[in-house]
Amino acid sequence: MDKRIITVATTGAWVNKDLTPYVPITPEEIADEVLKCREAGAAIAHIHVRDDDGKPSMDFNKFEKTVRLIRERCDIVLNLTSSGGIGLSDDDRIKPFAELRPEMASYDAGTMNWGHSAIFENSPQFLEKLGKAMQECLVKPELEIFDAGMVYNTLYYLEKGVLKSPPHYQFVLGVPGGMAATVENLVFLKNLIPENATWSAFAIGKMHLPILYATLALGGHLRVGMEDNIYYSKGVLAKSNADFVKRARRIIKEFNSDVASPDEARQILGLKARQEG
Ligand code: ZN
Repeated sequence: MDKRIITVATTGAWVNKDLTPYVPITPEEIADEVLKCREAGAAIAHIHVRDDDGKPSMDFNKFEKTVRLIRERCDIVLNLTSSGGIGLSDDDRIKPFAELRPEMASYDAGTMNWGHSAIFENSPQFLEKLGKAMQECLVKPELEIFDAGMVYNTLYYLEKGVLKSPPHYQFVLGVPGGMAATVENLVFLKNLIPENATWSAFAIGKMHLPILYATLALGGHLRVGMEDNIYYSKGVLAKSNADFVKRARRIIKEFNSDVASPDEARQILGLKARQEG
């Protein structure tokens, strides 16, 4: 049976309560939401945390608490961000996964002009350090790709041993400064990655659904959640991240595929056995 993994990205760095009152911000809110998403069919939770004012943060204590609360509640695969904001130190970005040992963490494979507003910095030096740290910690990188050059960076690092094969990619389409959310771009990116790679994709905002359907048709895994899109339909805010997960699950089933459980996702992605925090 063809199994598809649903990743949920409940929070992200930028969506706040002014944009939608339903976005989970505190560790308790995030853990509650992740449990609902797990019950709805998500196998992986991509985690960001916020400070007490709801601002983007890489605060270790917030990560520690969020991870602990989620692990107490369910068996979902944890994927911690390594880039919860702009202008953070290398150590701020590495410490959460190095200490908490999630099974996955994000690896943003290049520097870009983010949203016409800031430099999202992932220097060659940092990417080497990050790749090696993830190998040492047995954390599988989710290679986040915003532009085609980033795929070529990963091919170089695979060759150099900074990244281990088989890689797992997450194509992020529609962020201003990166590639636009078109089916043509998705097909182009997918054809650049190694044959043994696994991959997932999503687009932000209103292109979320077209790219979700295209990803399904092309054999990829799916990511949904308020980090990427807060509207369930035109002008209607999603009340919970679980609504997006339920929809993705329905679409996968209608497609005659099946939704991967966390353990099936572990198998598909070759993750190490879950470590207790
Ligand atoms: Zn993220």
